[in-house]
Amino acid sequence: MSAPIAQPTSLEFALKQHFGYDRFRPGQQQIVETALQNRDLLVIMPTGGGKSLCYQLPALLRPGVTVVVSPLIALMQDQVQALQNNGIGATFLNSTVSGIEIRDRARSVLSGDVKLLYVAPERLLSDNFLQFLETARSQIGLAGFAIDEAHCVSEWGHDFRPEYRQLSQLRHRYPDVPVMALTATATDRVRQDIMQQLALNQPHIHVASFHRPNLYYEVRPKTRNTYSEILQVVRQGGSGIVYCLSRRQVDKLASQLQDDGIAALPYHAGMSDRDRAENQTRFIRDDVQVIVATIAFGMGIDKPDVRFVIHHDLPKTLESYYQETGRAGRDGEPSRCILFFSYGDVGKVEWIIHQKPDAQEQRIAKQQLRQVIDYAESTECRKAIQLRYFGEELDRQCQQCDNCRQPKPVEDWTIEAMKFLSCVARCRERFGVTHIIDVLRGSRKPKLQKYGHHQLSTYGIGKDRTAEEWKLLARSLKQRGFVDETDDGYPVLKLNPLSWEIMRRQRKVEIAVPRKVSVTETDNRSQGAIDAEMLLFELRSLRKQIADERSVAPYTIFADSTLQLMARQQPQTLKAFSRLSGVGKYKLEEYGDRFVGLIREYLRKQSSVSMRSSVKASATSYHQYSDTRSHTLALFQQGMALEDIALERNLSPKTVLSHLEVLIRTGEDIDLDRLVSPERQQVIRSAVRTLNSETLKPIYEYLGGGEYSYEEIRLVKAKMDVLNE
Ligand code: ADP
Repeated sequence: MSAPIAQPTSLEFALKQHFGYDRFRPGQQQIVETALQNRDLLVIMPTGGGKSLCYQLPALLRPGVTVVVSPLIALMQDQVQALQNNGIGATFLNSTVSGIEIRDRARSVLSGDVKLLYVAPERLLSDNFLQFLETARSQIGLAGFAIDEAHCVSEWGHDFRPEYRQLSQLRHRYPDVPVMALTATATDRVRQDIMQQLALNQPHIHVASFHRPNLYYEVRPKTRNTYSEILQVVRQGGSGIVYCLSRRQVDKLASQLQDDGIAALPYHAGMSDRDRAENQTRFIRDDVQVIVATIAFGMGIDKPDVRFVIHHDLPKTLESYYQETGRAGRDGEPSRCILFFSYGDVGKVEWIIHQKPDAQEQRIAKQQLRQVIDYAESTECRKAIQLRYFGEELDRQCQQCDNCRQPKPVEDWTIEAMKFLSCVARCRERFGVTHIIDVLRGSRKPKLQKYGHHQLSTYGIGKDRTAEEWKLLARSLKQRGFVDETDDGYPVLKLNPLSWEIMRRQRKVEIAVPRKVSVTETDNRSQGAIDAEMLLFELRSLRKQIADERSVAPYTIFADSTLQLMARQQPQTLKAFSRLSGVGKYKLEEYGDRFVGLIREYLRKQSSVSMRSSVKASATSYHQYSDTRSHTLALFQQGMALEDIALERNLSPKTVLSHLEVLIRTGEDIDLDRLVSPERQQVIRSAVRTLNSETLKPIYEYLGGGEYSYEEIRLVKAKMDVLNE
């Protein structure tokens, strides 16, 4: 019934056999080996580190069943699905499972078919379940307990769940069954709490590095161009999350993206549970590309192929920023994390902090905000700052952030600082930044006249710099403590000893000047890379099709990285296919034929048909069409004309138009002007309104019985219906 305990040398073989992976991720092998010695373990690994495998592989190699405690129902289902997709016996019990089904599942556990049993914590400690555990122990044996998201046991963590507190009972009931606790939480306090609350027995503690080499971090100034920059990132492809501070902003951005033809959906606490769950599922299943969300979204999202996480607004703390961006690239593939930073947002957050009634809370929140600002403004390696926050030193530059890749130019602004500070002195340290800048730039505001500041020697000596540049300098001086700012109802600048050192030329002031982000990026990929992307695009479609047939998330069929290997290596035999990382025994049997068939067919077509010029266009945008209409949509959105789409797809223009009509009705943003001229639309609109008819014939007749085609009328009417015109 059960496999013998594997020796370390055979672990890699087991890894390939069951999960299809060629290599362990850092730490995994050591953890698996320790688990196989039946020791308690505390595993601390960042999101995407590969924690699940740490208890899943030992579960397969040990006799008996492993019980996994997991707090989130959606996550549990995903995990079980992913395991079943690897042909591994796994099941779950939670409130969504009916009574009869529970009995069935219990029976299959006792028969030894199930190696991993996932349960919610409240169920685990119910009398019925405890009794069942006893039976399982005597009949098949308990291999171990795995406590996922173990930080939920701690009040110091961000997600305390009282049910977790009772889990220590497990240790007391089953002192000999090893327990593995796993979390991505970084603080020491929570770690200590986990060990104590779960009564772990001299656990082996594995703390992985929180460095995520596949994530690229950058901070950009938030400007009028921000939306175009977001759009540009989105158009480069892949799934992504855009975080916003307010629900209003979420709704606005989501509909803006939809207007630009991006499959995007909102997610926030103001929506019904059903709508939120549905949008989340559509995101996980790759029906939509982008989720625009408040931070209500994320916990319990186990989508490994999130390619970008954008913060449209300021995150609350550096830790939450790390966790939120950590949802990108769990599959280890390159992914981007972009923060849009503005001082206007800082002001908003400060205002929120001021509303807090508790002084201590205010103090902590201000300190956390300070850290976020320092992070955003720093010229140092971004990852070094993040890791230092978690008590880890990065001994080299990461080369995976904007500051490492394109250091901001540093300029000597000592003279400007001297001008600024002496202006503060001349204004007798009774004014704020705006006023000082007005004086420096020689403003004609009446306020200056009123105080006689137009006669100061510093009046107008700073015209050579813009107000923005002076603001940049002022912020930098304040942050570095080169000038103080007091708040007597309004902010006032005060000089301090460091200010005087600068004015006496005893201290230099250097300023990092922000880079300008260009919105257009050229596509300089090679033809080979573009071809690989075309194939990748087809492989993705097949993956989506199979996933839809089975009602599972596409990533459970194959990870993105495996599809990329297929696209690059183009295996044409099952043997070659089986060697790809991510293809285990089960997946080879289940899907091998279809994927290899597609690759062969693709190569055959490629050699017989000269690739059309549209190849390049279609390779550059994100599309995962699961049906014929989505294919039409993808081509239309690349700017192809109706006739060309028909030709490319070997369909009649009428059929393509009927696709477009349905697409309009399902809410896709189809640019009608490209199909019917605005003048003709106008005439049709007014006819539809005049006749108020649901059928088309009267409208067709009214418009001259042939002057305007049925297709044109249909398209305009679809648009009107959608817009409730
Ligand atoms: P965590 O729970 O630490 O956030 P997961 O266990 O969900 O991470 O793993 C993240 C992703 O990495 C999953 O898609 C998983 O299949 C993949 N993965 C885990 N271990 C390996 C490995 N050794 N090789 C390749 N991919 C792996």
